Amino acid sequence: MCIVVFYLTNLILYFLYRHTLILFCAFFYVVVMKKTKIIATIGPASCSVNVIKKMARAGMNGARINTAYGDIAQYQEVVENVRKVVDVPIIVDLKGPEIRLKVLQKQTLCKGEVLEVGFGGEGGVSFNHNFYDDVSVGDVVLIDNGKVRTVVTEKCDGVLSLLVIVGGVIEDGKGANLPNKRLLVSSLTDYDLEIVDFANRVGVEYIALSFARTACDVEDLAAIYDGGIIAKIENFEGVANVDSILEVANGVMVARGDLGVEIEPEKVPLVQKSLVRRCNQRGKLVVTATEMLESMIVHSWPTRAEVSDVANAILDGSDAVMLSGETAIGAFPVEAVEMMNRIANETESAVRSKVEDVAFVNISDTISRAIYRICQSMPLDKVVTLTKTGYTARMISRFKISQPIIAVTPNIKVKKQLELAFGVQPVCIDYLAEKDPISFVTNKLHSSRLISDKETLLFTAGARTNKRHASNSIEIHKVDELRKFIQK
Ligand code: PGA
Ligand code: MN
Repeated sequence: MCIVVFYLTNLILYFLYRHTLILFCAFFYVVVMKKTKIIATIGPASCSVNVIKKMARAGMNGARINTAYGDIAQYQEVVENVRKVVDVPIIVDLKGPEIRLKVLQKQTLCKGEVLEVGFGGEGGVSFNHNFYDDVSVGDVVLIDNGKVRTVVTEKCDGVLSLLVIVGGVIEDGKGANLPNKRLLVSSLTDYDLEIVDFANRVGVEYIALSFARTACDVEDLAAIYDGGIIAKIENFEGVANVDSILEVANGVMVARGDLGVEIEPEKVPLVQKSLVRRCNQRGKLVVTATEMLESMIVHSWPTRAEVSDVANAILDGSDAVMLSGETAIGAFPVEAVEMMNRIANETESAVRSKVEDVAFVNISDTISRAIYRICQSMPLDKVVTLTKTGYTARMISRFKISQPIIAVTPNIKVKKQLELAFGVQPVCIDYLAEKDPISFVTNKLHSSRLISDKETLLFTAGARTNKRHASNSIEIHKVDELRKFIQK
């Protein structure tokens, strides 16, 4: 009898405990929102509705389509599947002017051998783009991410002679890089133009522009695409021109895969820090990408060095960290997102602002600096920004404040784009026609449980203006007091 009572009590306690644990978790889910955003590349390993749903639950905030692989019918299916299950931005990544080898027959190259390479599909081995005139004897040509290393020893009648320094296998489609070399290939290929058409047609939130080298490259894309543009910095020109690129792009991706071949790999860590800092300074989006949890393509658990790399990218100030092969073709796509989520949760509270003081830029810039100070100097639970273009939300986000930033926007596309900004929880509410937008938004946020009575909030909005980039007011309220005031 005693044993039965003991057993029953334990069972009841166990269920009570589990129940409270679930409630507790639910409570914390609302209060402790993950700030770091996770982008997962969708590919054969993850394009089903089921896996996308699981990745979203595990913390995916953006879905990337890499158009270097697959075809438009497949991208269309990915867009549909993502939109069926989750409200995250879709990033279409253009293939760009990647230089690739066309090889009729796979072959092994030995050190000391000379390989003759033509252009545009002529001969046994050729390059896909014609950059013959830009190449000089002595230039280094790297194949397959630098695995095979060659140097140009002769140029003759549209054919390059490449002396093999480090041998290896070459096969059709392998990438080639000419480190530190400026090539005059156009930034948007015919294939890219087709993809831009597709992106416009389905209305994706972002295009990632591969091998962005100058502001003009970004402007060329902006002329034919009306969503957000993330410039991928993948070579020395992109690095050198990042300030002017940031004038016109919505953000950048530190594309460390190609960058590590185009410039020396040992230069990548400091370039990463510099790019992230420049983006934070301007309130532009910055994504750190490639090989973040690379070993999870085949293993269910990452290496310690990979975990550190993700953590350090977050500490540098990245808005988002990205998974490529891990989720596109890996054996553990959901686990990879879960792991990034764990690293983010553990690391992000230690992120501090690296934004420097500058001379007057505009009103939103000044207001965001003031909000940063206020958040440090009084107990505040959340910051609510009423933002038409998302600009003020990003300007606040760059200060890495500990409070969640609720970005309220009337524009659904802006709402989705803001999903990638560090610490920002975007919400779509159309407050434009309201006489008292802050009261209206407060009621809406309260009824959808995004804010609660006991919280103290800071609101910022553009009062008595319709100008862009002009959040000119700050109001601080306790939610219950504000709601009583509104009801009167
Ligand atoms: P990719 O770009 O994956 O399209 O090559 C990212 C990188 O180069 O790091
Ligand atoms: Mn790349």
